[in-house]
Amino acid sequence: MRSLPKTTQAWKNAAKKPLQNVSKAQRGALAPSRIAAILKALDEAYPRAECALTHSSPWELLVATILSAQCTDARVNMVTPELFRRFPTPQKMAKATLPQLEALIRTTGFYHNKAKSIQGAARKIVSEFDGQVPQTMAELITIPGVARKTANVVLGVSFNKAEGVVVDTHVFRIARRLGLAKGDTPQKVEQELMRILPESRWIDFSHQIIQHGREICLARKPKCDRCNLEQLCTSKDKTWRS
Ligand code: SF4
Repeated sequence: MRSLPKTTQAWKNAAKKPLQNVSKAQRGALAPSRIAAILKALDEAYPRAECALTHSSPWELLVATILSAQCTDARVNMVTPELFRRFPTPQKMAKATLPQLEALIRTTGFYHNKAKSIQGAARKIVSEFDGQVPQTMAELITIPGVARKTANVVLGVSFNKAEGVVVDTHVFRIARRLGLAKGDTPQKVEQELMRILPESRWIDFSHQIIQHGREICLARKPKCDRCNLEQLCTSKDKTWRS
């Protein structure tokens, strides 16, 4: 596959280019009618899917998303109330020490790195963005601890802006199971999804697939007998076939 684009516009331009060297089977998997059927089934199963991280501002969502790496949203939601009570703004968190932050987020795992990231994010937002979470991908990915996934979460959930598709562990796994993507990295899968999904669905699709991954299409033993996408799915991981 080509090297990944460098800018948001380049990502979007790449997403508009027709696929090349695609097998007949993959072309069938990506037929607009099949994609429309998958999106319809997701709407039926998850009409109100939304971000599960508790937050009351873009800043809180940014921090919670950084903490959610390799950790469940439920666990993050247990630590953030006290974290935000002690350090409610980027200005206050910028002045927190690493040991103070580590003590508050320890149970989310990788807490040394995460403490550095949220302290660094707070300092960057205070020093370069006037204390406000920026609203573009290009600016967000300059913040410590923020890569495309976190930036897409904040842009989509807090600002209703679709600059890309959130690809977390669930989206990565299920997009491949459904034959919507073949890439072996989240970045490649995101590019493939941006190419085949209508831009108007980029935000909701991720929320719906993440809920599907938590409830039905589990990593180890997907509950295919309860899946309303089953007739559209040809994954070799299927545990049940109609
Ligand atoms: S049929 Fe099974 S593997 Fe396919 S999407 Fe549904 S739960 Fe996942």
